[in-house]
Amino acid sequence: MTQLTPQLPGIPLPEPTPVSRPFWDGCAAGELRYQRCAGCGQAEFDPAWACRSCGSDLEWQVSEGRGEVYSHSVVWRPQTPEFTTPYAVVIVALDEGFHLLTNLVGCTVADVRTGLRVRVAFHDAGGVTLPYVTPDRKAPR
Ligand SMILES: [Zn+2]
Repeated sequence: MTQLTPQLPGIPLPEPTPVSRPFWDGCAAGELRYQRCAGCGQAEFDPAWACRSCGSDLEWQVSEGRGEVYSHSVVWRPQTPEFTTPYAVVIVALDEGFHLLTNLVGCTVADVRTGLRVRVAFHDAGGVTLPYVTPDRKAPR
């Protein structure tokens, strides 16, 4: 069974912007950062200038990096040739109440399922550290 692994160097990388820079700096430091609204308390991701619910200021916080797979798709035909297939695209519902679109690694295609408990696993992609997720083997359920 094919093991899902991080992509090899050479894939297109995200370019941090003024609003997303704290997130990418967090990844490089081993922290999964997200924002929380100072007004209504809503968890916010991806990075924004103001709360999408009420418009109040946002404050950066550090996630425990644990959650569960909310939705997934396994890619067998890459959109560009730099990507190694198969890879599993997942939307993770983090325990703090936000969602992260990422890739699941450290398991096989057969392991990919909704509800799978995962934790963040950072990988240096050559200049940018990417937040992948891997099955959380110490999960309580
Ligand atoms: Zn708000």
